[in-house]
Amino acid sequence: MENENPIKQVMLTGDRPTGPLHIGHYVGSLRMRVELQNEGKFDEMFIMIADTQALTDNAENPQKVRDNVIQVALDYLAAGIDPNKVTIFVQSRVPELAEFSCYFANLVTLARLERNPTLKTEMGMRGFGSSLPVGFLNYPISQAADILMFGTTIVPAGEDQMPMVEQAQEIAHKFNSVYGNVFIEPKIMVPEKALCRRLPGIDGKAKMSKSLGNAIYLSDDEKTVTKQVMSMFTDPTHLQVSDPGHTEGNPVFMYLEAFATDEHFAKYLPEYKNLEELKAHYQRGGLGDVTVKRFLAKVLNDILEPMRQRRRELENDIPAVYRILEEGSKRAAEVASYYGFRAKRAMGINYFEDKKLIEKQQKAFKRKHEEADKLAAYLAQSKK
Ligand code: ATP
Ligand code: MG
Repeated sequence: MENENPIKQVMLTGDRPTGPLHIGHYVGSLRMRVELQNEGKFDEMFIMIADTQALTDNAENPQKVRDNVIQVALDYLAAGIDPNKVTIFVQSRVPELAEFSCYFANLVTLARLERNPTLKTEMGMRGFGSSLPVGFLNYPISQAADILMFGTTIVPAGEDQMPMVEQAQEIAHKFNSVYGNVFIEPKIMVPEKALCRRLPGIDGKAKMSKSLGNAIYLSDDEKTVTKQVMSMFTDPTHLQVSDPGHTEGNPVFMYLEAFATDEHFAKYLPEYKNLEELKAHYQRGGLGDVTVKRFLAKVLNDILEPMRQRRRELENDIPAVYRILEEGSKRAAEVASYYGFRAKRAMGINYFEDKKLIEKQQKAFKRKHEEADKLAAYLAQSKK
């Protein structure tokens, strides 16, 4: 029999189509995906547009989700994802994902879900209170299905996804021990630089997020990026240029840490060799926020400009982008149905495909009838 669990290296990750992608997504996951794609070490790579998940807290606003599917797809392609190397697909177009969310829900307790720290924060942020949609509470389980149904080994994502991947590992483990070995326990891959695992918002809040309106989008034009950077929070104690400033916890320096290279210094701020020198000057005093912000705006625009250009070209042929999603969704559905078939067989809910089961059931009924007939014959005999 062929090995049904070949150790294949499979990458899967995704984004909610609740808005276009921002620079937090870029450093947290997207940049890594492009690098992994170009290294070519994975046997298969999947990127999912999580529309089903986006609907868990946008049920009454499906138009928002619908419109952002294409925005997110354009962002992927503009950032350098190559659809010939990576399967880009739409979550709702793969029925096994919804189906297995349902089976996996039986393997997780409510208490376990409520312990998920990311979920707790997100529920608080949305102020659900007692109107919490069950679907939202359930999304870590649904996300486990997204991951497990493709035999995923690696999930490149930001820090907020750690509890989600842990939940997926637990479900795989539980399923395998109850029903038999089908699913692979995935691992998360977070960016090397701690700061890139959770980029703060331009308002200095803990996380840049589409839902918080504190983001710089990959598709923002040059002017908007510059305006957003100029409005950023810095060190509140750095009032005069001559004052010594703090670089730690200062979002402008955090962004520089995430994005600026020595080449950027050579190109736009040659008075300094690197970020260390710039930081040292800021800490000493005598370096104004405006100078630092102008540099950051140039760095970001330098990184975003090639993406903007690619996006413009892609926007001229929107049907082609939808075709990429449609083809990708078909391919994803094929892979998920393979895991779905094996999982349903392990669970014993493959009633029609299991010929042995049908024969066994037939034999049992036959035996029952024979025994009943024998008993009836015996009783008839003994009455005589
Ligand atoms: P929403 O507010 O709708 O949840 P979001 O901005 O949090 O949107 P997601 O689609 O939930 O974005 O996240 C997609 C991916 O991007 C995940 O891997 C997540 O870890 C990563 N990510 C999101 N925001 C950041 C951030 N600020 N810094 C680093 N990574 C991030
Ligand atoms: Mg999120």
